[in-house]
Amino acid sequence: MADYDYDLFVIGAGSGGVRASRIAASHGARVAVAEEYRIGGTCVIRGCVPKKMLVYGSHFAEELQDAANYGWTVEGMKFDWAVLRDTVLRDVTRIETAYTATLSNNQVEQYLERATITGPHGVKLASGKEFTAKLILIATGAWPVMPDFPGNEHCITSNEVFHLPEFPKRVVVQGAGYIAMEFAGIFNALGSRVTVINRSDVILRGYDEQLRDRLLQITMARGIEYKFNCPITKVEKQEDGSLLVHAGKLDPIPADVVLIATGRKPNVAGLGLESAGIELGAKGEIPVDKHGRTSTESVFAIGDVTDRIQLTPVAIREGQAFADTQFGGNPHTVDYECVPSAVFSQPPLAAVGLTEGEARNAYGNVKVYSSDFRPMRNVFAERHERGLYKLVVDANTDRILGIHMIGPDSPEILQAAAIAVKAGLKKSDFDATIALHPSMAEELVLMR
Ligand code: NDP
Repeated sequence: MADYDYDLFVIGAGSGGVRASRIAASHGARVAVAEEYRIGGTCVIRGCVPKKMLVYGSHFAEELQDAANYGWTVEGMKFDWAVLRDTVLRDVTRIETAYTATLSNNQVEQYLERATITGPHGVKLASGKEFTAKLILIATGAWPVMPDFPGNEHCITSNEVFHLPEFPKRVVVQGAGYIAMEFAGIFNALGSRVTVINRSDVILRGYDEQLRDRLLQITMARGIEYKFNCPITKVEKQEDGSLLVHAGKLDPIPADVVLIATGRKPNVAGLGLESAGIELGAKGEIPVDKHGRTSTESVFAIGDVTDRIQLTPVAIREGQAFADTQFGGNPHTVDYECVPSAVFSQPPLAAVGLTEGEARNAYGNVKVYSSDFRPMRNVFAERHERGLYKLVVDANTDRILGIHMIGPDSPEILQAAAIAVKAGLKKSDFDATIALHPSMAEELVLMR
């Protein structure tokens, strides 16, 4: 080991890379991590965390509106984008500092520059310094895909959306996946006119169909416009600086911001993988085995760059398993069954396990229980939006195969319910649990 400068060199200090670095170091390894942008990666710097803060910020619009029915008079209400944006960016810096401190406290050496691979044990920094490491871990994440059309240089991705100098009155979003639905919700709540354009007529592909329909209905009623089966063909910049979006046969749509959210691809460009003999998979991902090992013995990869499940908690688990296995004498792998997920749309949607369609294909004999209800707070506020919860159950064994929810706070509720699905509990276990009243979550144990 002493022949190498480090036991482990990690490229990329996002959620997965930071976890792997810190845990490997805590097991006694000599660890370095290189990061070309900011410690924390996509989730902390320009993804989940700042997005969630914008969701919180935008919720006030609805709550202030609803406050009247609860007796509150809110005078002089107005929204200032710069205040919200700068508060969010300040908090991102706070979390970045905390991540940096965690690495330092664990004696992880940090290089704030780009690193590339020069061989199975070699790494080179942008400044020219070269190091050797017994193991190299690639945790470079993913990068937004920008489709090729004239004028795409006028469009932004989720990387830029947190830094908008002005609040956009008109927003066009291309895509109807996670990022599109979350930012459509944020801008709609904050008062922008929002148009979602997608290449197909499906939103949130992969989620339960009834939930997707419910989200579509509610968001349309809230004023989001959808244009399906017509990807953007051209974006023109007008003399006044605004944009004109051409899509299919639609009349051109004027916009102040065009946000492209058409998926994220593994971030491998120029990494030097060929020097270590690593070939990419069909989707540009780094293929790995169950321990994250690439085709080269000494090089590993975790997180979005491997394009398995593009979620932060999964990358963190992969980083932990890698470090424990390689440096902690505790080999283990990540269990990808029953990974809960949520879309922080407005209202949010959350799910774990199989959808009704998937369960029917896999098990044939399936029972579906559902509760279609108007949350109490919507009743008081005279909002007509309804929540929908679904339990998908194996009719032969009574085991819960999936839970699907849309409604206020559904991600918060689903996280707890996901434990039951992961533990293989039965519908009869839910029935045996007494409801916690009055709550929305009680619907989960009241479906008959
Ligand atoms: P998604 O994969 O969720 O959605 C991509 C969308 O873009 C789909 O509507 C798809 O259409 C459309 N699309 C794909 N390729 C093209 C193309 N070439 N031209 C036009 N349209 C296209 O991607 P996102 O960018 O929204 O998010 C990336 C990933 O980040 C997610 O998969 C998720 O793993 C993660 N993420 C997770 C969040 C969370 O956990 N809450 C939040 C944000 C991101 P169609 O489906 O019709 O083919």
